[in-house]
Order: sequence, then structure tokens, then C-alpha cells
Amino acid sequence: MPNQTFGRPGTTGFATRAIRAGQDPCAATGATIPPVYQTATFTLENPAATKGFDYSRSGNPTRSALETQLASLEGGRYASAFGSGMAAVAGVASLLSSGDHIVATRDIYGGTHRLFTAVLTRYGIDTTFVDVGDDAALRAAIRPSSRLLWLETPSNPLLKLTDIQRAAGVAKEAEPRIVVAADNTFASPYFQRPLSQGADVVMHSTTKYLCGHSDVIGGVVICDDEDLAARVAYHQNAVGAVPGPWDAYLTLRGVKTLALRMQAHARNAQLVAEFLEGRGDIVDVYYPGLASHPDHDLAKRQMDGFGGVVTLRPRGGVERAHAFAGETKLFNLATSLGGVESLLCVPAKMTHGSLAPEERLELGVTDDLIRLSVGIEEPADLLADLERALDRSDARVPA
Ligand SMILES: *Cc1c(COP(=O)(O)O)cnc(C)c1O
Repeated sequence: MPNQTFGRPGTTGFATRAIRAGQDPCAATGATIPPVYQTATFTLENPAATKGFDYSRSGNPTRSALETQLASLEGGRYASAFGSGMAAVAGVASLLSSGDHIVATRDIYGGTHRLFTAVLTRYGIDTTFVDVGDDAALRAAIRPSSRLLWLETPSNPLLKLTDIQRAAGVAKEAEPRIVVAADNTFASPYFQRPLSQGADVVMHSTTKYLCGHSDVIGGVVICDDEDLAARVAYHQNAVGAVPGPWDAYLTLRGVKTLALRMQAHARNAQLVAEFLEGRGDIVDVYYPGLASHPDHDLAKRQMDGFGGVVTLRPRGGVERAHAFAGETKLFNLATSLGGVESLLCVPAKMTHGSLAPEERLELGVTDDLIRLSVGIEEPADLLADLERALDRSDARVPA
């Protein structure tokens, strides 16, 4: 196990743990930075004695450093890193057996929806989707066989919030054996730590803010309960959807600047949201940092900042939205989020295309909706890019 000297929340601050937890100098060589252990296997002195590692699917020192770092940031003792966010969701789902039931938020990442409805159903695990903010509806959805409550807050793409403490309380009162899991990808541990709010398990697509540079696909599952952690770690080794050492290294490296990056993402996103709200040609702007956001007060209580994603609906319908999406220069038209560079996507086409049109409408994912992942470029340049693209697309669409 890597040294945990700087790993305990409460003894050191967030940025210190991001840079130090799991990252003590190498005991053998003094290497200051955890090396990329590009090895499949480890040579033993005798068949009974390892130095903690024997085969890189089961464990790799670079991956261990990342797991210690990420666990520390969420305030948990255990983490298992995966080769993608979806592999991490599957790691959480491995806690279930045939006949178990999932209750999940309606506002759920498309890939998680697909895993729950098209894959787990074949193994005898059913999911009920519910508005988890409605206590009565949540209570009604829970069965004696419910073993997992799946939360995602803020949600994608409309940035709806769930009161984690409240939903966890309602669910556990109805069924004490339920495990509460939160997909914390949109907030990052810098802005929200679900384990401290009643969740048992936190999952991330590390592809997004944690890695932060749009160059790695990865995921992680974090918990503080030893038994849950052991079961997820067992699945990690048994199924083997692990990240390679280079991906682990790049993510570890990205996370070191998470605090600085999240501050910059949130500052820029607030400016973008206010800029959009101030224009006359935007129908809706969704950002938890706006006083007009329906969950603004909850966001202030539950989060330490409002994140870097802003969603909008420009006036002029789908024609205008697509024209706008084609006009930005700094905001690349690309799926994903959380990188230092700004991205723009059309959720109905690019992230929620696998849902039926009625399902999209029910979620508010209309064809004219645009999601911005606000990067950390100079804010004035971002605002100028949006202004230009909005003006040009407006001229092309009849009023
Ligand atoms: C991207 C994402 C995932 C899936 O992660 P991958 O790394 O793409 O497999 C899950 N949840 C949320 C909220 C995401 O944004």
C-alpha cells in the first residue's frame, strides 16, 4: 500500500491531498513523482513473498497511487480505479445479484440508463426510475428487494440537483439494506463530497474533471465501508476492466491541479451563465449558480461551488440552436466535458440520441437544447466567441 501520510481529510487541506496523498517518494529510488510502472507482472523472491504486487490486473503501483489520491479527496478510505466511467458503474452494479432491484434518478447519464435497462435486466436486475426529489414517489418506488439507490447530482444536461442527505434518509428508512450511490462526475470532489452527506458509494467518470485534459477515459468507485470496498475490488480484479499505468499516471497528474481548475471552471461558467441570462435572445439558461435556478439554495447548502457546465435554449428553435452550434470557434462541437478546453454539445443528438423522443421530452432534453462545458480559457475570449456565434446564428434564422 502506498503511504497515506497526507491522505486523511481533516489533517490536511484538499489541494495538499490532491498533490500528496498516495504520492510519497519512491522508497527504493527516491523518485519524487510516482513512476509509470509499465509492467504486466512482478518478480518474486520466493513463491510466498510479494512486495505487495504480483500481476497488474490485480494491482499496479501507479494505479494504487491514483486510488489512494482519489479516495482521500472524497473522504473515503478505499477506491477502485476502472478503465472507464461505465466500467466503474458496472463495478457498483456488481454489488447486486439476480432478483435485486435498483431505484434510480430519472435524470441519469445515458450510458448508465443503457446499462441498467438493456444489460442488467438480462441478469434479473430491474430498475425503477423516479423523481428522487419527490419523497413520496421515492418511498413508493422502494421494494423489499431494493438494494441500490442511484443518484446523480447535478444532473446531465439540465443540472437538476438532488438533496443527497434527504434522498438517502428516505431510502434507508424504507429499506435499511439499500446502498446509496452517487455519480459525482459533474461536481467533482472539490465541490461536493457525497460520502459526507449520506451516500455509501461515490462513482466518477475520471474522463471528465478529475483527469481534466480530455486525453484519458477512466472511472473510479470510492467508499468508506470496508465490506463494500472489498466487493468492488473483487469485481475489479475478477472482471479486469482496469486502467493501464499510463492512464492512471495521466489522471493522477491531472488531479493535482483539480482545485485550481475547478475554481477557474466555476468562475468562467458563472460569467457565461450571467452573460447568457443578460441577452434577450435566450429562452432558458440552466446553471446552479444563478439565483434563477430552481435548486440554487440547495446548491449553496450542498456544494462548495456550482461547477463548469451551463445549459441553454436559444430563441429560434432547433434551427437556431444548430446554427449557433456550428458558429462557435473556441467551444468545440464535441461530446464530453470537464477538460480545460471549452466544448459545446447538442444533447438530443449527441448524448441522448439513444432515448426515444418521448423519453427525451419527459426529461426536458428538447432538440434545441445546448450544453456548454465551460473551459478555463480567458473568460473574455469565451464570452466574445459566444456573442459572435449567437449574433451570427440569429441573423440566419427568421424572427
Ligand atoms: C461521462 C459520464 C459517465 C461515463 O463515463 P465514461 O468515462 O464515458 O465511461 C458517467 N456519468 C456521467 C455523469 C458522465 O458524464
